[in-house]
Amino acid sequence: MSKTIQSVRGMHDLLPEETSAWQRLEKILRRLMHAYGYREIRLPIVEKTELFARSIGDVTDIVEKEMYTFEDRNGESLSLRPEGTAGCVRAGIQHGFLHNQVQRLWYLGTMYRHERPQKGRYREFRQVGVEVFGLEGPDIDAELIMMGTRLWRQLGLNNVRLEINTLGSAEERAAYRDALVTYLETHRERLDEDSLRRLERNPLRILDSKNPAMRAVIDGAPELSGHLGEASRRHFEGVLQRLDDAGIAYQINPRLVRGLDYYNRTVFEWITDDLGAQGTVCAGGRFDGLVEQLGGSFTPAIGFAMGLERLLALLREQSDWKTEQTPDIYVLATGAAADGPAMGLAESLRDVFPARCIVYHCGSAGLKSQLKRADKSGAVLAVILGDDEIAGNRVTVKPLRLTAEQATISGSELVPYLKTFFSEN
Ligand code: ATP
Ligand code: MG
Repeated sequence: MSKTIQSVRGMHDLLPEETSAWQRLEKILRRLMHAYGYREIRLPIVEKTELFARSIGDVTDIVEKEMYTFEDRNGESLSLRPEGTAGCVRAGIQHGFLHNQVQRLWYLGTMYRHERPQKGRYREFRQVGVEVFGLEGPDIDAELIMMGTRLWRQLGLNNVRLEINTLGSAEERAAYRDALVTYLETHRERLDEDSLRRLERNPLRILDSKNPAMRAVIDGAPELSGHLGEASRRHFEGVLQRLDDAGIAYQINPRLVRGLDYYNRTVFEWITDDLGAQGTVCAGGRFDGLVEQLGGSFTPAIGFAMGLERLLALLREQSDWKTEQTPDIYVLATGAAADGPAMGLAESLRDVFPARCIVYHCGSAGLKSQLKRADKSGAVLAVILGDDEIAGNRVTVKPLRLTAEQATISGSELVPYLKTFFSEN
């Protein structure tokens, strides 16, 4: 026998047992976005490689070593999107919906990064993200954090904490960069290979190192707050003030720099200790320079993205997130004459109960084995139509998950009877 083909490493099938939880989470997310006036945008999975190189940055982990990049048949370099912001900005410039406008957008979709797969870190994963354009004040920064906080509350998650920092303006970052490089140069012998490479091209990213051996050097590094100008400081204070007013707890983490190049001013992450090393469930920040960097006119912007696999891993700890899709009504036919009418009955029940799951058995089998199948499906009740029932214009309703008695009732009373079980359709 030839070898069977497996899915690509780090890319997972979401099996039917899991998709109920996904759908439920997606529904809650859609409702949240709507509640804050955000509109959905759907973007291509494939973009020109240059887009990511120019936005995320050449010397980031993502662009350096994580992208799925290939040449298409015309020899053009394309990449599977590793994140959603670059495509969103590209679309905004292309369609002219950014200039002098306020846009509150959200997206949901798969992202691709060639990382080492482990729990909470995959090569295909899903993110929901928001991007806001055209607002420069601290109020919108606070709004994004309020959205996230509301989501955790709605999901019953109380094990995520908020860390926040400010990166200042591009100039302030540059001044800080010099101070940081001076410090790191004096500790050259303690830097790992990655950090040595970053020291030349992107020293701030050293602060983002996941290598525990780097902890001590990083802890001793100067802080960016010492280089903040008045406007950046006021902006940050404005964000924190609004969080205080809203009663949202946060921790200022001066080492939080985020892995992507395009951030400035406010950056934040929600982190949990319940997922091991992959603890960041949501990350975001301001990227005021990005639209201009990609060829548009200056447009302030801010966004966040959350990893849905990580979020679901947290939710799975809660028992009620384990529920699967099960039928409400399982219709089955016994006897030669019943098949057609029973299938018709299932159709008419779908007319009356459009929101309910009604499964018709399909395929002839004895009553006993059909009932076994009905029970295994998890159906609330079975509706049985046999030759006798048809002759007497009756149906049998057999509760499978309710404490009610089995009942044989006349055809005309079936719907009112079922309505006693399924109050809203
Ligand atoms: P990390 O530090 O964990 O590598 P990141 O800084 O690369 O994360 P972002 O680019 O900010 O992550 O993406 C936002 C969110 O998307 C992350 O906080 C995380 O929840 C999720 N995410 C990122 N990469 C992956 C991945 N490979 N698999 C699953 N989820 C991911
Ligand atoms: Mg990463």
